[in-house]
Amino acid sequence: MKPFGAIAPWWDATRVARALDARRGASPCFVYDLDIVRDKVATLRAALPSDVGIHYAVKANPHPAIIAAVAGLVDGLDIASGGELTKVLAAAPDKPVSFAGPGKRDDEIEAAIYNRVTLNLESEGEANRALSIANRLGMTPKLAVRVNPDFALKGSGMKMGGGAAAFGVDAERVRPLVRRLIDTGADWRGFHIFAGSQALDSEAIVAAQAATVELAGRLADEAGAAPPLVNLGGGFGLPYFAGDATVDVTMIGDRLGNVLAKRPDSLHASCFAIELGRWLVGECGVYLTRVVDRKDSRGETFLVTDGGLHHQLAASGNFGTVVRRNYPIAVATRFTQPPVETVNIVGCLCTPLDKLGDSVSMPHADVGDVIVVFMAGAYGATASPTAFLGHGPAVEVVLDGA
Ligand SMILES: *Cc1c(COP(=O)(O)O)cnc(C)c1O
Repeated sequence: MKPFGAIAPWWDATRVARALDARRGASPCFVYDLDIVRDKVATLRAALPSDVGIHYAVKANPHPAIIAAVAGLVDGLDIASGGELTKVLAAAPDKPVSFAGPGKRDDEIEAAIYNRVTLNLESEGEANRALSIANRLGMTPKLAVRVNPDFALKGSGMKMGGGAAAFGVDAERVRPLVRRLIDTGADWRGFHIFAGSQALDSEAIVAAQAATVELAGRLADEAGAAPPLVNLGGGFGLPYFAGDATVDVTMIGDRLGNVLAKRPDSLHASCFAIELGRWLVGECGVYLTRVVDRKDSRGETFLVTDGGLHHQLAASGNFGTVVRRNYPIAVATRFTQPPVETVNIVGCLCTPLDKLGDSVSMPHADVGDVIVVFMAGAYGATASPTAFLGHGPAVEVVLDGA
């Protein structure tokens, strides 16, 4: 038997029953509960210094109803593709938007400038393209510089800063770029410094935020220009797996308040924001999938469901984890029953990678029962092939020499 992650406290029997009901028989199905998102934002607001804004990283869950609801609660939205821009313009047309991510195409840059979105520039090459596209449009582009810091967010599940990286302009190359943006008359919006994702170590988050403020101050001094906004990144993780810690946002908010109170003079007039995806919406969602077969094989029991990694890649362990561990999981239709057996819960794809629960202890489930995978609110439906970031599928071409 292997452990699985703790079920978040919101998901009691009543809420699981409500999700089962909301599905109206559809399977597989994601259900998102906005009350949980509201709780999360309120908790974060209460913890953060009042002058630190909250941005939502849309890629965690770009469902139109989620974007619209979260937009009403936060100060800005961060997108990672032109596809997400289209969704944001439809769901929350008046919200300030920033656009980060490597490999922005010219058409995406053009749409962003046209719609007055702040581009978080990832390279000098991208800056050149943005300036020339803005020139052609006859518009003043809003440009921030994403900095590849000289440190990483310690213990983050996904490191996005530190050494060589596809993300951001190396800190030591920021000064001339900022000068150029300002000298060409662009609307320079400041710095974006994102050091990592899925961090559970609160002390490490505090240290990264302090280092980020320090770095932003140094860069502002070097460039001789005060950044209007310093986006401190985010990276707050969620406890997906057994034994994972919970991020202490109250402590983080307190310490960030101290850091900002003593910030360098060059940041005196700057606004600050943190930007989160996963932490805000991950726990609001569940993935529900029906058992279509129950079979025994050489001493093990398999519950075969109609879902799988094509919908919920992360729960299968194939989204950036090295060792597969079990997401929080239960039999939704027998949620209050005690475990009586160890089973493997799998999807319907013909690959041994398609596992939702590996040797998990469950009540007896049969054909027609519904499995619930928790933590499906972030990087669920759209982080699975091929919906991630709304880039759309690759074109398929068939050659036929006959
Ligand atoms: C993905 C991403 C985020 C959100 O990360 P989470 O771990 O979901 O909070 C924030 N900012 C940028 C630039 C990102 O690429």
